Amino acid sequence: MALIVEKYGGTSVGSVERIHAVAQNIAQRIKNGDKILVVVSAMGGETNRLTGLAKQISHQPCPREMDVLLSTGEQVTIALLSLALQKIDVPACSYTGFQIPICTNNVHSKARIEHIEGRRIHADLNNGSVVVVAGFQGVSAENNITTLGRGGSDTTAVALAAALQADECRIFTDVDGVYTADPRMVAEAKRLDRITFEEMLELSGAGAKILQTRSVEFAGKYDVPIRVLSAFQPGPGTLITNEDKDGDKNMEQPLISGITSVDNEAKVTVRGVADKPGIAYGILGPISAAHINVDMIVQNIGTDGLTDFTFTINQDDLQKSLDLLKPVAARLNAQTVVGDTNLAKISAVGVGMRSHAGIATTMFQALSEKGINIQMISTSEIKISVTIDKEYTELAVRALHKAFKLDEIGAIGEVSS
Ligand code: ASP
Ligand code: MG
Repeated sequence: MALIVEKYGGTSVGSVERIHAVAQNIAQRIKNGDKILVVVSAMGGETNRLTGLAKQISHQPCPREMDVLLSTGEQVTIALLSLALQKIDVPACSYTGFQIPICTNNVHSKARIEHIEGRRIHADLNNGSVVVVAGFQGVSAENNITTLGRGGSDTTAVALAAALQADECRIFTDVDGVYTADPRMVAEAKRLDRITFEEMLELSGAGAKILQTRSVEFAGKYDVPIRVLSAFQPGPGTLITNEDKDGDKNMEQPLISGITSVDNEAKVTVRGVADKPGIAYGILGPISAAHINVDMIVQNIGTDGLTDFTFTINQDDLQKSLDLLKPVAARLNAQTVVGDTNLAKISAVGVGMRSHAGIATTMFQALSEKGINIQMISTSEIKISVTIDKEYTELAVRALHKAFKLDEIGAIGEVSS
């Protein structure tokens, strides 16, 4: 008998019909003898609708009240799904984060889970009941309702799977797995049978929107295997797991697992600053103090004692960053500070990079053959990212998908039917 955590996202529970379909799915699993804990998101569009209501009242709504508001979306779904299960004679019981409790810190709208109390869940599961838990929410030590950030139900599911030592955490969504590229951009994109936590983490951070990045971090840390599956059609999905568990990652395993792109970043350049100690700190100190996340950072070797310092941030933070840097640039005697939003970041990710040379060369050659100019480059052990002119995003993603032969991996690890 396996203990399985299943998470259903907003579109998967987006209507009463969908909720009935999910209940049928779960009933099947119960018949097979598994213990099932279900985590659900709010019905599709509901979190945005609630946010919109609050914005009509206040431009800067109080974070505590926002969490009270947004947590209601998931509360609706747990009750409806429990009713749908009971209707087909499957015992089920719903729980909000507060009731479990899922204890978090007190950072509203991006709280972190600190502890999950498993007693009540275990008792229900042992009694043969399906436990239905509201995703995305928890409770702070001060008894305030908290939420975990957009997409946070993924993290709830993984955290529960870790706390209960579940056999697998299944994330049901509107796509049937993790692909080598966004299929809307690359028609030849292939579903990956398996991928490592590390690769998934880099892909999520680099623009793949399937899982909340934090849920992947959590899964890696506690070694919880995740399977991403379609809620709409049966299939094997994509298993996200540890590298060493992939005993059968065979010789044909491609070097690169995926190509991603993001086009919501902006570039800030401080031109003509002195090439001396304290400049990077002087520029990025105020940025990080304002809780602005910096992605790429580039500083070249100076000439004549001067250099340019460039970094990328989310586009939403551009104006604030420029405002913060104006006085800083004056103090550092910099020539100018300029912002640019016309860029896209394209990344190639794969654990194969660790053991193979020439990946960067393949990437640069493919881009040069398309006449695409590279502005910035950054690398990690298993990822290479470049920024380019936004208008070439799709062209670049397609060219790299082809250059790394990702169109050809169809047969690898496919489950034959
Ligand atoms: N309902 C929340 C959102 O839309 C959390 C989630 O669905 O994971 O972001
Ligand atoms: Mg989601």
